[in-house]
Amino acid sequence: MTDFTDPTSKNESEEVLETSLRPSNLNEIIGRDLEKRNIQIMIDSAKKRKKALDHVLFHGPPGLGKTSFAHVIAKEMGVPIHITNGSVLDKAGDLAAILTSLEDNSILFIDEIHRLRLQIEEILYPAMEDSVLDIVIGKGPNARTLRLDLPKFTIIGATTKLSMISGPLRDRFGMSFRLDFYTDEELKHLVMQKARMLNIIIDDEAAMEIAKRSRMTARIAIRILKRVRDMSIVENKEYIDMESAQKALALLEIDDNGLDILDRNIIKVIIEHFSNRPVGLSTLAASLSEEPETIETVYEPFLIKKGLLKRTPKGRVVTDNGLRSYGGNHLLDIVE
Ligand code: ADP
Repeated sequence: MTDFTDPTSKNESEEVLETSLRPSNLNEIIGRDLEKRNIQIMIDSAKKRKKALDHVLFHGPPGLGKTSFAHVIAKEMGVPIHITNGSVLDKAGDLAAILTSLEDNSILFIDEIHRLRLQIEEILYPAMEDSVLDIVIGKGPNARTLRLDLPKFTIIGATTKLSMISGPLRDRFGMSFRLDFYTDEELKHLVMQKARMLNIIIDDEAAMEIAKRSRMTARIAIRILKRVRDMSIVENKEYIDMESAQKALALLEIDDNGLDILDRNIIKVIIEHFSNRPVGLSTLAASLSEEPETIETVYEPFLIKKGLLKRTPKGRVVTDNGLRSYGGNHLLDIVE
């Protein structure tokens, strides 16, 4: 079977590059006007009151700016940021160690916060609400709770799976922002911005072409920009034009709609193996030798946004639009 990988995941060298390409203040964040305005007000108010910022939750598919916002908020607040991940906070002591070492008003960024275990989540509730840590000492009838004061701090949570966050945890965030996919125009600006940061010269038309084919996702636009840059270097061009962009995109097997191989295979499998009858997530994932979570959090949201796939109570089906573009008209009468 083909070995597919999550197109929004990143390797170590990309991690380093991403850090250097991150916006350093709110003005450098492309688009997201409403979010920026709300965050600016929260920051200004917290600064005037000389208090820690309220807890903030960002949710949405990967590669759309959640981590970037967390770093920008820390910079704008002028406070340290500590980074952790819901999947590594395994024991109560891990979280307690982090919380007790925080500086006043600092930020704790918890990526993939939906992966926190319930036991850890419950430690967070009083910490987020009253800046206290309840430690249980001993076991059974002799167990006692010891309450420790914590510094005032802000949790910024990020998740690709809002539905997996419990109600009580969600309620403890003062603000929650959904970061949706970018428009082509926004991604074009983003491509131009990152090109400037990387000392790459690119024309308008090529930037728009990359934008249109980047699954509406910033991280992918940056990755394609780098591949297109390689193509233009190999071809001895002084700047990136449409021709180098299209050649690189063809080599990456990204089609005119921005779909990659797995996107197209998802549609193909539903149409060809299941005659476009509703398919459950695990069956679909098994047919593609992929992780259900990757399909659900990375691929599906994009295909749904593109109007090519839809979720029904019984499972996933390809839309009429998807059938027209990828299934051939003869399959149209099978739908619904
Ligand atoms: P997420 O945390 O949602 O997975 P990131 O914040 O890591 O996404 O963003 C991925 C890359 O895209 C980073 O290099 C970041 O600099 C860039 N990026 C994302 N959104 C924006 C934006 N609105 N403006 C500028 N750069 C952005």
